[in-house]
Amino acid sequence: MTAASRRWRAQGLTIGLVPTMGALHAGHLSLIESARSENSKVVVSIFVNPIQFGPGEDFGRYPREPAHDAELLRAAGVDAVYRPSVEAMYPPGSSTRVHVAGVADPLEGAARPGHFEGVATVVSKLFSAVEPERAYFGQKDAQQAAVVKRLARDLDFPVEIRVCPTVREADGLALSSRNAYLSPDERRASVSLSSALRLAVEAYAAGERRPDELRKVLCGRLEAEPLARVEYAEVVDPETFTPPGTLAVLAVRIGKTRLIDNHELSKVFPG
Ligand code: AMP
Repeated sequence: MTAASRRWRAQGLTIGLVPTMGALHAGHLSLIESARSENSKVVVSIFVNPIQFGPGEDFGRYPREPAHDAELLRAAGVDAVYRPSVEAMYPPGSSTRVHVAGVADPLEGAARPGHFEGVATVVSKLFSAVEPERAYFGQKDAQQAAVVKRLARDLDFPVEIRVCPTVREADGLALSSRNAYLSPDERRASVSLSSALRLAVEAYAAGERRPDELRKVLCGRLEAEPLARVEYAEVVDPETFTPPGTLAVLAVRIGKTRLIDNHELSKVFPG
């Protein structure tokens, strides 16, 4: 990988990196499209990163679809796919972890201890291996994107972090590899996340600014859905991920599946 990056760089070519965990969908493809439009070469990494999963989380059963991914990547015309093994990424004796403080602490950081340390560590290693000019992340995982921006600034990675809009199903559900876990009933119930965000956007547009009232709008819609269990529903600052702010962020369990979503309340909700 490094050899290809060096060769491209020596030729004066720019590299866009799209880090993923595979089970690719249209959300990933939109990152690839952005990368292609802004760089000469596009590298997609596929790595289900064990250290960003907590005990009891879904590392073992996370969807792995190498044949499907290969087909999509071929059709998307990416220039290289980087698929390291777990052993190559974390050889015996490997013990360094990258900890981002502050923005990585609340919400996802609190709900999933160690998660962002795993993300920051693997993203640092991907940046070192690929040396991209730009790296592409989805707004779907807004806090992750903010953590990666902080990481790149603090560790002086010479990479521009680009954040691309969330791609949604027609009914509003944000695309996610984990949507594959949903039963038909759960799939119907999962529309409650985007519909809660849409209602909060409408309340904000109608002039509501009180954080508690906006939270009530989010929780009211989610709690009306019997299959949904709210883990958090907050309105936070998009840089610190603490209140006050205008970014509505949700983590909700639909049955056994944990879904996250977010939307900036001052922006129109799509669809
Ligand atoms: P994942 O494979 O789930 O780790 O996601 C890889 C990248 O794709 C991350 O930067 C995600 O934020 C991004 N991504 C996932 N789902 C979507 C989506 N629905 N729209 C846009 N980007 C997404």
